Amino acid sequence: MLLHRIPDGVFDSLPSPLLEKQIEQPEGPDRIINTVSVLRRGPLSQRLSWGTPVSATDNELLTFHTTDYLQRLKESDKKGKYLSASTYLPAAGLETARLAAGAVLSALRYVLNDEGSMGYAMCRPPNHHAQPNMADGYCFLNGIGLAALEAIAQGYKKIAIIDWDVHHGNGTQAGLYHRDDILTVSMHMDHGSWGASHPESGNVDEIGEAAGEGFNINLPLPFGSGDQCYTAVFERCVVPKVREFNPDLIILANGQDANQFDPNGRQMVTMAGFYTMASTLRELANEVCGGKLVMTQEGGYNATYAPLCAYAVAAGLVGADLELKDPIAFYPEDSSRAQRDVQALINRHPLL
Ligand SMILES: [Zn+2]
Repeated sequence: MLLHRIPDGVFDSLPSPLLEKQIEQPEGPDRIINTVSVLRRGPLSQRLSWGTPVSATDNELLTFHTTDYLQRLKESDKKGKYLSASTYLPAAGLETARLAAGAVLSALRYVLNDEGSMGYAMCRPPNHHAQPNMADGYCFLNGIGLAALEAIAQGYKKIAIIDWDVHHGNGTQAGLYHRDDILTVSMHMDHGSWGASHPESGNVDEIGEAAGEGFNINLPLPFGSGDQCYTAVFERCVVPKVREFNPDLIILANGQDANQFDPNGRQMVTMAGFYTMASTLRELANEVCGGKLVMTQEGGYNATYAPLCAYAVAAGLVGADLELKDPIAFYPEDSSRAQRDVQALINRHPLL
């Protein structure tokens, strides 16, 4: 998955001839290399075990994706192709996408087979923007959706998906929008739709359809929300809804691009904020589903700070102290604004 390379430039923009020094495409392998190294070298190293994922098969992919879309991916895979403005499938890139999706299934099976209560798919390219019939936001295949459906096929009755990547988990939403046995909850900055490849708005009124009505919860948060708003939304909105749903398993779409230095997010969350949310999630999972939790690696584009935030998540989830010091965090936070923002969200939300 580290071999997956997309064209240079800053996200959707090509390198500028005006700039003497370019930076590498932020959706690159470094962010994953550093996340793995901080987990392997840091204080949690003795508490983690590592496995090797297997690629997702066509039959597995077709539980979430359409036949037509898989065919288009196979065609695009021959020479490489832009599938949307931001999403380029390089030649022979489908195999890395299969491996990323398969990593989520491998993490799920680790949990389903009772080898451990938590499995973390350290995958790239990411998952959560991939819709049943469309690629978007660097995502081609949606391992989150595959894993939720696989768990249902294996006899699990109810799955909750929590997505705290800074962007709306639109692909997961789109694929599971009619289901009442899979609750999808997405916290994200309030960016709205970004065009044909991401038609969903991420707004509070997208609540699911037919049997799925009431089982899709979007929590769009104002820009600059910060730790206090994120942790309050998690505790006051996410926790009660998941508790009420009472799932057998929780899947976390674990992006760190809500961090304070992310080039692709504006949400000012620090290591401490991620640690607090993860600690709360650990308690919630212990309470409702015997601690069963599957995580997928989503965004997080500052290649040094995002990995430290991923470490903070892992520390919270295993119940360890956050021993690593935040190298930079300092900004004055307005507590009254955080509480106001959360209350305003609750007041206008049809499901809260
Ligand atoms: Zn993201």
